[in-house]
Amino acid sequence: MSHPTLRATSPASVDALAATVRAHHAAVQPMRFIGSGTWLQGGGPFVDATPVSLRGLAGIVEYTPGDLVITVGAGTTMRELSAITTEHGQMLALTPYGDTESTIGATIATASAAPLALDDLSVRDLVLGLTVITGTGAVTRVGGRVVKNVAGFDLVRLHTGAWGTLGAIAEVSLRLHAVPVHDVVLGGRLSAELGDAIPPLVANRAPIPMQVVLEPGEAPRLLARVSGNLARVDALRARLVQLGMQNPEALSPDDIAARRHTPDDAIVLRLRTALSDAVPFVRATRDAFPTASLTYSPHRGSLRVVLPTATSAGDAEDIMDGVTRALSTVARLATTFGASHAIAIALDQGRRQYPARTPLEAGIKRALDPDDLCNRVSAMDSAPAPLPV
Ligand SMILES: Cc1cc2nc3c(=O)[nH]c(=O)nc-3n(C[C@H](O)[C@H](O)[C@H](O)COP(=O)(O)OP(=O)(O)OC[C@H]3O[C@@H](n4cnc5c(N)ncnc54)[C@H](O)[C@@H]3O)c2cc1C
Repeated sequence: MSHPTLRATSPASVDALAATVRAHHAAVQPMRFIGSGTWLQGGGPFVDATPVSLRGLAGIVEYTPGDLVITVGAGTTMRELSAITTEHGQMLALTPYGDTESTIGATIATASAAPLALDDLSVRDLVLGLTVITGTGAVTRVGGRVVKNVAGFDLVRLHTGAWGTLGAIAEVSLRLHAVPVHDVVLGGRLSAELGDAIPPLVANRAPIPMQVVLEPGEAPRLLARVSGNLARVDALRARLVQLGMQNPEALSPDDIAARRHTPDDAIVLRLRTALSDAVPFVRATRDAFPTASLTYSPHRGSLRVVLPTATSAGDAEDIMDGVTRALSTVARLATTFGASHAIAIALDQGRRQYPARTPLEAGIKRALDPDDLCNRVSAMDSAPAPLPV
C-alpha cells in the first residue's frame, strides 16, 4: 500500500502529536522534531525529514507552587516558563546557552549545558518526568510529577540528551527553586598559573558554580555564581578569594547574557574527562586549539571549546575543514585522557565522523523507534557498530 507524502505539522495536543507520529509510522516517513529551530545544526548530522513542530504544545499543564513542581508542554519557551514561575518567586535553575526563545523540550532533548547554573545543577537534576511519543506513536509517561518518585529503569535520563532520536518529548515535569534573595556572578583573574590554580578549585566541594575562562593571550579568569542571603554571599566571596580569585567584581546582566551566546560561524566542542586529569587535559586542549576560547567547569570536569572558523563569512568548506581537523584533535585528546564524553558540535551540517551507536544504544533505539523515523541520523563514514544478536 502506498501512502501520501505527509506535510509539516504543528500538533497542539499530546493526542494530536501521537496521531501525527502514528501517521508517519504507518507511512514509514521520517520526522524532524523542531522546537524554536535555533539549534537544528547542533548534534547531527540529521537527514532532511518532514518537520514536526512542537511549539503548539506550549503552556502550563499543572503547576503547584507549594510543591516547587511544574508540568508544561515541551514547546514552552524558556522566556514563557520564566514569566510563569517568576510570578510565584520561583525559577527553573537553568539558563542554557542560546536564546530565551528556545524551548524547554529542546533543552532537555539536547541536555543543553547551563553555564553557571544555580548550585551547579544540570538538566538531569531538574527533570522529574516526561511524556514522550515513541517512534511508533505510543504515548509513554516516564518519571513522575513529584520530587519523590520511585522509578525502576531511569527512562527520564535516557531521553534527556537523546537528541529526539528516541521519540518526541511532549510534556515535561520540572523541579523549581525559589528565586534567591541575592544572586550575582563574580569575575576576577586567577592569582596562580593553571597548574596551581585548578587543583584547589577541583578539590573545593563548596556549592559554588564556577568556570575557569581561558581566552587566547589573556591570563586565566575565574567566574563564579554566588547566591543566597547576604551572609552566605559574603562568605562565598571570601572563599573565592582564598581559592585564588583576585579583586572579585560583579558581572553586569549584559555580560552574563553575552556569555550564553556563541558566534554564528563558530565551532563548539563539548569535552569531559576525569577530574584527576584536569590540569594536563586543559593544558593539552589549550595547546591544541590556541585560537579557541575555553571554559572549564572544575566541578564537572567539562570543557567547552569555541573555535572561530577561518573566515568571518563562514565559508562552508572552511568550516568543514575546521570541523574535520577539530575532530581528529578531539579523538587524540579522548585517547590520551580517556575523555568519557566527546561530542563535536558545529553550526554547520558537514561532519563526517559522527560516532557510531554502541550495541546497547542500537538496541534501545530499536525498542523505541524500530523504523528509525525520529530525528534520523544520516549515514556515517565510519562502519556502524554491529547490532547485538
Ligand atoms: C548559538 C547557540 C549556541 C549554543 N551553544 C550551546 C552549547 O555550547 N552547549 C549546549 O549544551 N547547548 C548549546 N546550545 C543549545 C541550546 O541551549 C538548546 O539546544 C536550545 O534549547 C535550543 O532550543 P530550540 O527550541 O531552538 O531547539 P531546536 O533548534 O528546535 O532543536 C534542537 C534539537 O532538539 C530536538 N528537539 C527539539 N524539540 C524536541 C522535542 N520536544 N522532543 C525531541 N527532540 C526535540 C530537535 O530535533 C533538534 O535536534 C546553543 C544554542 C544556540 C542557538
